[in-house]
Amino acid sequence: MNHHKYKKFETIKLKDRTWPDNEIIKAPVWCSVDLRDGNQALITPMNIDEKVEMFQLLVNLGFKEIEVGFPSSSQIEYDFLRLLIEDNLIPDDVTVQVLTQAREHLIRRTFDALEGLDKAIVHIYNSTSILQRDVVFNKSKDEIKKIAVEGTKLVKTLSEEFSGKVILEYSPESFTGTEVDYALDVCEAVMDTWGADENNKVIINLPSTVEMDTPNVYADQIEWMCRNFTNRDRVIVSVHPHNDRGCGVASTELALLAGADRVEATLFGNGERTGNVDVITLALNLFSHGIDPKLELSQMNQIKEVYEKCTKMEVPPRHPYGGQLVFTAFSGSHQDAINKGMHAYKERKSDIWEVPYLPIDPADLNRQYEPIVRINSQSGKGGVSFVLDTVYGYNLPKQLRVDFSKVIQKISEKEGEVSSEKIFSCFDNEYINIETPYKLIKHKIFDISDENSEFERKAEVSVEVNGEVKNIVGYGNGPIDAVKNAFNKSDDFIDTKLLDYSEHALTSGSSAKAAAYIKLKSLENESYEYGVGVHPNITTATVMAMVSAMNRIYKTTVKEG
Ligand SMILES: [Zn+2]
Repeated sequence: MNHHKYKKFETIKLKDRTWPDNEIIKAPVWCSVDLRDGNQALITPMNIDEKVEMFQLLVNLGFKEIEVGFPSSSQIEYDFLRLLIEDNLIPDDVTVQVLTQAREHLIRRTFDALEGLDKAIVHIYNSTSILQRDVVFNKSKDEIKKIAVEGTKLVKTLSEEFSGKVILEYSPESFTGTEVDYALDVCEAVMDTWGADENNKVIINLPSTVEMDTPNVYADQIEWMCRNFTNRDRVIVSVHPHNDRGCGVASTELALLAGADRVEATLFGNGERTGNVDVITLALNLFSHGIDPKLELSQMNQIKEVYEKCTKMEVPPRHPYGGQLVFTAFSGSHQDAINKGMHAYKERKSDIWEVPYLPIDPADLNRQYEPIVRINSQSGKGGVSFVLDTVYGYNLPKQLRVDFSKVIQKISEKEGEVSSEKIFSCFDNEYINIETPYKLIKHKIFDISDENSEFERKAEVSVEVNGEVKNIVGYGNGPIDAVKNAFNKSDDFIDTKLLDYSEHALTSGSSAKAAAYIKLKSLENESYEYGVGVHPNITTATVMAMVSAMNRIYKTTVKEG
């Protein structure tokens, strides 16, 4: 690889730069360029129906400025704009933007397409970069500036005849490859020609048409421009970053620190080559810092679905916020930390989200907790109990977590990843309401504290054992005790000792159920087992948990032993 083939980028001299000390405290004005920059970069550009669907998505997401195309460049772009106007699809608070080169016949055709609108942003551009002046246009600086000024004059003339209001946007295209003082000179000439002032601002768009250097250099260029405009108040400074070096988001954020007011971007960063900057990442980066992003992105899966359908592009699985895997933790230690963080968040009832490894709450994007943790052979007990707890509502006793994660471990060693559904069905089959060989038919607990007995409770239990119903009776100081003693007194059952008991409500509302966890030790050998009972009645759930534990002991010691 011959790196001598490439030369170093010329940085600008801005020793007293102020942007590194700034903070982003509000969302910029967003302008979507999905239907223009994004669309022109698609292998199969959107058809009219797809454009309408994309436009409606953008409106629903809250974009107030949408570049809808380059209507003078092709019939479909022209027709699409006409359809938006004639079918009244543009809400009052949304301004459409159209792009055109600063050339007479294209500008005229653009105004034909705008007929009937009450406002529009007309975006003219010409390339000002050193390289393009030299190899593409073979024109002097003055000649290039003249193209911009002539274009502006024509837009101004046509605007005066136009029924609605026109906002001018001018882009010195390939700004990042243009000398800043020359770019400023052209922009000032455009604004003077337009007659720009505080009440008639011009959008000066400073595109990183090709990302050419580290984001700090772009920030320096933006700050230099902002400081050197003759009247900063007559300019809306817009940026239009691409992602050639993979730093589009960083470049944009630093440009905002440097004074930019407005950002042109696309959903998921679709666009020419490596794409435009991704507006979703930018907006949710703000959101995650407690700043209103001014976009409604909570239906992330739906946004992704429409985007993928219209563009035929795929959102990569690790794409920030929207990717399929971004709320998934594979490592056991990460899962354990997430599990503990989620618990603390719930218990403290805090308004502030602070969970390790999850910069934002997936629920804010209407994404499920379910895919957060996937269990594989590297996962510890944290992941397994997280799934059972967060997804299914079972808060397992500590020892049961350890026991059950070994069961899952074995499956994952054989089958690789284990899904949440599989974890639950396995837990269900292994522990909950187990009915062989002992099946609980009914039980009744009597309060006998007044009857001069040494015990407070009497239990009558009917259990089916291999098809035969056994009625047993036991006494104890609590219901659990009484039931256990009933089993222990009978020769038909394994004798056990109670080691652990806990219970909790499973779901709220009228269909509420309780889960009970019982740990029994066999008195015949040292083996122990957990059983889980689930029932609307907490006592019944407890008895079922006991029967489940006995069945598990039976299975491991009697049947297999
Ligand atoms: Zn672009």
